[in-house]
Amino acid sequence: MLPTQGYAVMTAKTALQPFSFERREVGPHDLLITITHCGICHSDIHQARDEWGGSTFPMVPGHEIVGTVVQAGSAVETFKVGERVGVGCFVDSCRTCGPCREGSEQYCEAGMLLTYNGLDKDGQPTYGGYSTQIVVDEHYVLRIPPALSPAGTAPLLCAGITTYSPLRHWGVGKYHKLAVVGLGGLGHMAVKVAKALGTEVTVLSTSEQKREDAERLGASDFAITSQPEMFTRLQRRFDFILDTVSAPHNYNNYVNLLKTDGTLILVGVPDKPTLLEPFPLILHRRRIAGSVIGGIRETQGMLDFCATHSIESDVEVIPIQQVNEAYERVLKGDVRFRFVIDLGSLK
Ligand code: NAP
Ligand code: ZN
Ligand code: ZN
Repeated sequence: MLPTQGYAVMTAKTALQPFSFERREVGPHDLLITITHCGICHSDIHQARDEWGGSTFPMVPGHEIVGTVVQAGSAVETFKVGERVGVGCFVDSCRTCGPCREGSEQYCEAGMLLTYNGLDKDGQPTYGGYSTQIVVDEHYVLRIPPALSPAGTAPLLCAGITTYSPLRHWGVGKYHKLAVVGLGGLGHMAVKVAKALGTEVTVLSTSEQKREDAERLGASDFAITSQPEMFTRLQRRFDFILDTVSAPHNYNNYVNLLKTDGTLILVGVPDKPTLLEPFPLILHRRRIAGSVIGGIRETQGMLDFCATHSIESDVEVIPIQQVNEAYERVLKGDVRFRFVIDLGSLK
């Protein structure tokens, strides 16, 4: 077993603290990766605080992982020692069901194996990227294009693919008007990716302070969601709305902003349900849909797309000793737009 240092929450009510644990030995198809950077996703906070239920402890969060291959198993074919690689939200799946065979492992019928807060085939819990190293099967590892910086790329492994995948799935492009609700980690990536696809983007935010950020990122319009007149001004404006909001809010207001046949795509996961009104959907044949991260092949495609379009996440790099403070700042919306932990601080 491989002794590893990390930061863990021991219960849903306690702060992250230093934690020692063991990774499995490197198997024939495994890569041992020294982690250099790991993004802080709002899902880390939801799960560390057991806001969705079913969390297991101790928990080492982190699923926006960038690092370097330091050892490759005897049967590894696709990666070499020294290569810069990424690991996202899952590290295995059944590999035989329809979605797995199609490359949509995130929809595996047996359930994807989460990078942390999951239970591996050997019955051991999985531990995530707030740690010095990780052992992952090569089939679930991504190649980081050399043009991208490691810190700015880490958030692409979750925030990037979670927004890229639905935009591509629904064919959002230059003839569409898109609204992005919530300008956080996911939201700012959605604006960047949609702009690269040629889409006209409006940002809907709770925070006036983000108006300039939205413009800088390329949004052509911006509105504050606490102002009721906004919901009149933007009625039937959008082909698609991508909702990245992490807290409960009224979806019905946003449905009314869709054109006929428009689609509200949910990616944000509030911890409480919302009542749906049928008429706004029925009268304009609108849809509400959801989407979770993306498959391995698609995630590689997203990374290559980002390299081609010079897209990285806007990040604030912190040492791991500041992770608890960073969680509080994420909850206050006080980060532009993603914290990334420099794991060099843990050595
Ligand atoms: P984040 O950086 O905290 O951004 C969330 C944004 O939501 C905030 O910046 C804020 O934007 C808005 N917001 C927060 N509280 C709000 C409230 N009470 N009412 C209205 N708006 C509010 O979080 P993130 O990392 O982007 O994650 C966003 C959500 O997506 C989380 O629930 C996360 O678990 C989920 N997620 C889902 C997937 C998936 O595969 N579907 C993947 C990753 C994350 P403004 O300041 O602009 O209002
Ligand atoms: Zn995430
Ligand atoms: Zn499967």
